[in-house]
Amino acid sequence: MTNILFVHIEEFSAEDFDQDKSKVNNNESESEENEEVFAFFTQKLQVRKVIHTTTPVEYPETSPNGVATIYNITGWKNHMDAFSDIQYSTNGAGGSANIKEGPFFGGISVKKDTRKCQGIKYCQFSNPEIINQEHCSVNFDSETFQNYTKQQNNNSKEAKTYSLFLAAKESSCPFKKDNNVSCDGKARLGKIANYQQTETTKYFIGCDKYKQNEKWHRFINIKPEETNISLLQQLFSGTASIQELSQCSMIIPRSCKRKKCDMPHTDNGAVVRGEIIERSCSVQFIKIIPHDITKCPFVALICIGVHNHPPPPPERTPSGIKNNLQILIEQAINQDDTTTSRSILSGNLIKAYFNKEILAEIHVSLNNIDKLRYLVGKAYKILHPFGQGVMGVYHYVSNKDSDLIDYVHKIEICIIKHLM
Ligand SMILES: [Zn+2]
Ligand SMILES: [Zn+2]
Ligand SMILES: [Zn+2]
Repeated sequence: MTNILFVHIEEFSAEDFDQDKSKVNNNESESEENEEVFAFFTQKLQVRKVIHTTTPVEYPETSPNGVATIYNITGWKNHMDAFSDIQYSTNGAGGSANIKEGPFFGGISVKKDTRKCQGIKYCQFSNPEIINQEHCSVNFDSETFQNYTKQQNNNSKEAKTYSLFLAAKESSCPFKKDNNVSCDGKARLGKIANYQQTETTKYFIGCDKYKQNEKWHRFINIKPEETNISLLQQLFSGTASIQELSQCSMIIPRSCKRKKCDMPHTDNGAVVRGEIIERSCSVQFIKIIPHDITKCPFVALICIGVHNHPPPPPERTPSGIKNNLQILIEQAINQDDTTTSRSILSGNLIKAYFNKEILAEIHVSLNNIDKLRYLVGKAYKILHPFGQGVMGVYHYVSNKDSDLIDYVHKIEICIIKHLM
């Protein structure tokens, strides 16, 4: 028999115990453990602050003396997510070198890739105070960052309405008169009541010099789901209040190809589009990747310098979220072949899978419905590489392994006839 003696039992207060526990938990998960020692990454490259993480970081910290972020990539699909999930544009000027014995990773051979931060792009009407905001780390609760989230929210219907209006104003009418002179008609908003015998009213942007039976005047289709019609009306009639938009908060990543700002601005009373200006930055991103990543499942990012610009908005959707979303979409399509980005948004899928009400709560970058549309399109391509149309079926039945081969001869014959 065993005797259990309850003697000399030390008493702990519950709070102490909880604190200890939280510390242990932190160290196990995405902890940020700072070490106050010099860490050598090459013989010359040493940094004082080292941050450990098990997940990608969107805004890695930097400092004039350098900050190293060490990623434990165990279990990751792709170790390069450590770098591709970063919201800064990290592919500026630079170069790479191989180091035979990387000191930090125990003397194994590593690749060292040094690039400059590519900064941001901003609108000519941007508030200089915002543009000149230097930073080393991002405070997600800060006003600047909160503004980004709002700005991204605007990025949908309203912004698209402004872009549509400004693009229409800049467009010229393709109609040519009998003497081959181009039509100088201006854009104007038009509508067709009872469009195609339905109760709906269809809006379009036409030409103010259009006469009946003349073809090929300007005709720009208006997508009702992307357009705020009453705002568009106000913009065309010049009654929209654009004073509040005289200053811009548009900050865009360097990778963005946009040449002009999406928001309209007033310049001497006229509505204009702002030019996009580039700002370069001298922060260095040094990526250290072991050549044998299975042997040493760590990569490092060292950031040196101070960003001379506000953080770029969170436009990139982190790969982990993208992968999960992709799985979700593929499942949805497998269950229902008519799945669209819209049906995903209106259904309970997001709630069931991520336990979030809206996509933007999963990641701000998903506010843009085009991203979801892209992912849905990609999922269809993976599931039906030859499309869902007749060619897709044709490919499917002509595959010997398909059970359908005996059943769908008609389609095959039709296609052959069509091709001849
Ligand atoms: Zn015209
Ligand atoms: Zn602007
Ligand atoms: Zn920068």
